[in-house]
Amino acid sequence: MSAVTDGPGTLPGPSGGRRADLARRIDGLLRTVPDFPQPGIQFRDIMPLLADADAFADVVAALVAGTPGPVDLVAGMEARGFLLAAPVAAVLGAGVVPVRKAGKLPGPVASQSYALEYGSAAVEIQPFTIPDGARVLVVDDVLATGGTAAATVALLEACGAEVVALSFLVELESLGGRALLPGRAIDALLTLA
Ligand code: AMP
Repeated sequence: MSAVTDGPGTLPGPSGGRRADLARRIDGLLRTVPDFPQPGIQFRDIMPLLADADAFADVVAALVAGTPGPVDLVAGMEARGFLLAAPVAAVLGAGVVPVRKAGKLPGPVASQSYALEYGSAAVEIQPFTIPDGARVLVVDDVLATGGTAAATVALLEACGAEVVALSFLVELESLGGRALLPGRAIDALLTLA
């Protein structure tokens, strides 16, 4: 049984009961899959949530409402981040930047590597899609150790963007991802211990 809280979000957005209610609904629609994709990982599967029209619409609306001020672009991390970033961007009147795993985007690309428990990975974007000084919201499904989000922030800022906030559907608090994102405005619609 997982604990559901409003989350230690620092962004504005739907407050009080409505937010707690949405967190409960998200929790009810998540599927926790043990040992996927490797032993020891409790995988939080968001697909049942995406398939629920009302819940999906409410999640997109909550992510939009939590955005502090206008943004030019919404960056979403491969692959489930794309599914949230695109509708959020459309509602906000912003463009979308896919943050992809290495080797997926045709160049020129900017790349940022980051450490994994074993080895390393890299994320890439096309820098010519980022106007200098663009205000960017970063969106992903799960904040776990924070490595992906921190690499994404570094990559966007190296390309001249201003990352104004990060929003997640779920934060896995025990993995301490916020520590890699000091001073950042971070919101999570559901916080799991
Ligand atoms: P991290 O870099 O550790 O914060 O991991 C974040 C990225 O990995 C996100 O793009 C998530 O989609 C994915 N991820 C990490 N842990 C999980 C998990 N337990 N369940 C689902 N996705 C996860």
